[in-house]
Amino acid sequence: MAGESFFGLDHPNRRSPQVGNPRRGGGKPSGTIVIHTAECAADLVGADTSAEGVARYLTERTTPGSYHRIVDSDSIVKFAPLGYETWHCRFTNNWSIGISFAVQAHLWATYPPAFVTKILRQGARTTAEAIRDLKKVWGITVPLKRINRKQALAKAPGFIGHGETDPTRRSDPGPAFPWARFLDMVRAELDNPTEEDDDMPTADEIAKAMWNRPIKNRAGKTVTVGKLLQDLHDDVADEVWTRPVTGLDGKKYTIGATVNGIARNAHAAATDAAIARRLAEEAAKGRHLSDEEIARLADEVAARVELITAADVAAQLVITTTPKETP
Ligand SMILES: [Zn+2]
Repeated sequence: MAGESFFGLDHPNRRSPQVGNPRRGGGKPSGTIVIHTAECAADLVGADTSAEGVARYLTERTTPGSYHRIVDSDSIVKFAPLGYETWHCRFTNNWSIGISFAVQAHLWATYPPAFVTKILRQGARTTAEAIRDLKKVWGITVPLKRINRKQALAKAPGFIGHGETDPTRRSDPGPAFPWARFLDMVRAELDNPTEEDDDMPTADEIAKAMWNRPIKNRAGKTVTVGKLLQDLHDDVADEVWTRPVTGLDGKKYTIGATVNGIARNAHAAATDAAIARRLAEEAAKGRHLSDEEIARLADEVAARVELITAADVAAQLVITTTPKETP
């Protein structure tokens, strides 16, 4: 795309070139997409600079090793054009595209759910864009399914983990990488791309703003939303968590299962303010919120669903078990 910039081209590594153009032997992308983790520490505090840090490292390292795209929870770094060769997977470099998550493979299960949702979404966005470009420029249709090593070596289009291509030396993106969820999110991005959101508030910022908002409790005293929810959470968390609730699909769930399910399927819930409303309503049963308070809470969430998924907010509100520090 005209005017597009690539970190690896803007900051060429003079000691160990990290991009090849053209690809060796006139190679072209085949639609094989290799997923990696960059094995850096996740940046869980404030703005996430992990992807930028990885990109900088690639421009300074003294050995070959690079990717086409690097993502963290709030950014996508385009390192090299898809037509270029990068050094991310020794057996398939010549035809594959490398996309790397700036986290550690063995820690997926330990990262906060909202963080995982955000970084997967960034990965899905850049992957969907790559799929569109592969179609537009090279006429390749990439199926949203995993392929095995034999297929990857045969240049088949599809998705494979780095470790599967090179099992004696690599294990990324790790056994806990949520493949099905990631591919679902890529599908959602292809169907309905999310806009660039660099200037938009992060989940943390929205949660914090909501957390600090004044609200009247049942006694008529003005407290913050955070204080109200914290008190309620402490009082009735377990009871609320196991309360049965009818899902939007008409089936019976517990509220806990619903919240966990929403966190897993945040992308699908992106515009579904009804979920946030239902959570607020259900959470309020036995929590002594007035109708007006429920409506206000639900509206606060609903008003923001264009900026962030309702699930992120709901997860922040409901799952949080320790008080947020107010700035
Ligand atoms: Zn890798």
